[in-house]
Amino acid sequence: VERELLKLTDLPAVTLDGHSVSLKGNVEFIEEVPSIKRHGAEGIGLYRTEMLFFNRDSLPGEQEQFDAYAAIVREMSPAPVTIRTLDVGGDKILTDLNLGDEMNPALGVRAIRLSLRQQETFKTQLRAILRASALGKVRIFFPMISGVGEVRAAKAIVEEVKAELRAASVPFDEQIEIGVMIEIPSAVIIADLLAKEVDFFSVGTNDLIQYTLAIDRTNEHLSSLYEPLHPAVLRSLKMVVDAAHAAGIDACMCGEMAGDPEYLPILLGLGFDELSMNAVSIPRVKKILRRCTRKEAEDVAAHALTYSTAQDVESYLKSVIAARF
Ligand code: PEP
Ligand code: MG
Repeated sequence: VERELLKLTDLPAVTLDGHSVSLKGNVEFIEEVPSIKRHGAEGIGLYRTEMLFFNRDSLPGEQEQFDAYAAIVREMSPAPVTIRTLDVGGDKILTDLNLGDEMNPALGVRAIRLSLRQQETFKTQLRAILRASALGKVRIFFPMISGVGEVRAAKAIVEEVKAELRAASVPFDEQIEIGVMIEIPSAVIIADLLAKEVDFFSVGTNDLIQYTLAIDRTNEHLSSLYEPLHPAVLRSLKMVVDAAHAAGIDACMCGEMAGDPEYLPILLGLGFDELSMNAVSIPRVKKILRRCTRKEAEDVAAHALTYSTAQDVESYLKSVIAARF
């Protein structure tokens, strides 16, 4: 089966009626890059930089970070690498940096909140990312954005770092695209406002589902309530894509939901431009994509949005997949 799927690697990720969706890979380590390429990734849609920061006594410096980012950018070039700034806190604990004990770490000082408080650490990372952008196509995005103020603050720091690099004649991509993770319900609700501030959205369904349904993503006792097809989640996805497209920016998804072939008709129908996932999911998703028309997927998404429960959406989707694929 795997061999059969790998034959899809060189075929384009395009629907029967000629609509392309960019299928990219999620990575944490450079060692994963050959695998996502072998599985046909058109780039990296989510490079989680946390791993560079874990299991060590001191934070990685600019040069060490640059070396890591540069290696991945060179390896993928000319395909794009979407680098996410540090996303620690919540379920991703880093004792060095996190601000002490918190009653609710998932709602605590994490991700962009931490970066905006520890600006030297943030600037070091941004400098390393910007320097790597001279070596290939790089996009930057910020995790756990809850409002426009955070985006503007983060972008202002990017501008500061750019100015410093310019002054020192250090090359970087002046046109580097900046995006945000959409993974907090407030970001969904104000997606139209956020879309005016950035070049792309990337939906993090792992956290978006957690925060929308108030279900701890790591609590195994609640796993049956962790429902990607919950009508509230599907409506959120629609709002995000519609807001992105109204503003003329791309709607991407890099949460686990993007890698489940069963969800592809809905995600295609909602209009996602890019789906980023684990290596092995890429050919599976591509296989379904290449058997859909966009029109048919739009009908599936519209129909899925009429159901009242995740179970009903699920059985509808299963029937579609069984009948068509
Ligand atoms: C997500 O939340 O969906 C996501 C892609 O980020 P992470 O799983 O790293 O929180
Ligand atoms: Mg997340």
